Amino acid sequence: MSELRSAIESFQADDLRAASDEQLEADFTELQQACQALEAERLRRLSEIHRRQSHRRDGYLTTASWLVDRHRLGWSAASREIRTARSLERMPRTKEALATGELTSSALHMLVWARQAHPAQFRQSEEALVETARRVPAGQLQRTVSHWRQKLDWEQGLKDAERLREQRRLTVSTTLLGMVRVDGDLDPETGETMLSALRDCMRADSSRRDPGDQRTAAQRRADALGEVCRRWLDAPDRPLVCGERPHVAVIVDLEALEGRAGRRSELDHVGPVHPEIVRRLSCDASLTRVVTRGRSEPLDVGRRTMVVPAPMRRAVVVRDGHCRFPGCDRPPPWCDAHHVKHWADGGETAASNLVLLCRRHHRLVHEGGFRVEIEAGRPRFLRRDGSRLEEMAPP
Ligand SMILES: [Zn+2]
Ligand SMILES: [Zn+2]
Repeated sequence: MSELRSAIESFQADDLRAASDEQLEADFTELQQACQALEAERLRRLSEIHRRQSHRRDGYLTTASWLVDRHRLGWSAASREIRTARSLERMPRTKEALATGELTSSALHMLVWARQAHPAQFRQSEEALVETARRVPAGQLQRTVSHWRQKLDWEQGLKDAERLREQRRLTVSTTLLGMVRVDGDLDPETGETMLSALRDCMRADSSRRDPGDQRTAAQRRADALGEVCRRWLDAPDRPLVCGERPHVAVIVDLEALEGRAGRRSELDHVGPVHPEIVRRLSCDASLTRVVTRGRSEPLDVGRRTMVVPAPMRRAVVVRDGHCRFPGCDRPPPWCDAHHVKHWADGGETAASNLVLLCRRHHRLVHEGGFRVEIEAGRPRFLRRDGSRLEEMAPP
């Protein structure tokens, strides 16, 4: 080291005004290369200090804090120096070129930047990149390295996306309580589709949200999922399976359907449900009925039958326009045609016995204790205690 210092001192003693142009330029070239060679050695020592953590002797917790305090570097410069020094240990070609003075500091930083982005690919491309760095000016090298990175980022990005997609899954299972548990991870595209559909469905629903709506956000999301799936099942252009379009299937015996205590009242996939739920589902449904008498004797292995034929449904829609429950204006796609007197109890499937009710009010009428009667051709809604709900204009 003292030789280095005395060499520097002898340079400092040179009288540059006396030197020829050629001499000056040759000196500059040599010093430029020597500086880079010295830089390589400086970084090699920094890397070794970092490896040994020798600064801990003086109580410095990190190499960066040692550089900041002892050598008055800024924090970000200190981190960059350490990063460069450590990277260089794994960049043999770059190190070599720097040691022979063929690489500038800015070229070195660009190569370190490239390696940090794609270490494995850099190992394969190092020779070519260093060769470019030897030949071209900094600006051109930056373009070359940027292209190299962009191409790999693109490929890496695609690979990452594909790896993410591979992890997609959805499990749907019934629980002992008769609920259906949904759990899964969706790839970004499917997730986005689902979120858009749910949000749109919830927005359409909440635009006519009544003040009495006590549902939580999670409950409304669950309802929206049901609505989205129901619309798919109701879509007329779905492919046929065994000659019909699969739909919600119920297995029920006549006693249960007639509102007497029956033995069977089940949904095909979920299992037993309350008979009143089956009564509601069969009120206006395009469902597959398997009505049994007793345990094993099927009465009506129903193909998918429309309980309310499409033309009659259209007539009810034209007549009612929206849900007829007082104060509600949910439009027909959200509605069922409710049999005022259930067909299982001998009620007629005719427009005069049908009234349009949205899914939530249909549930209120079947399972919530409200009643509806037809009086002089108009529906009349009654509370559980028999008092009459006044007809309100829809909001
Ligand atoms: Zn009904
Ligand atoms: Zn309604």
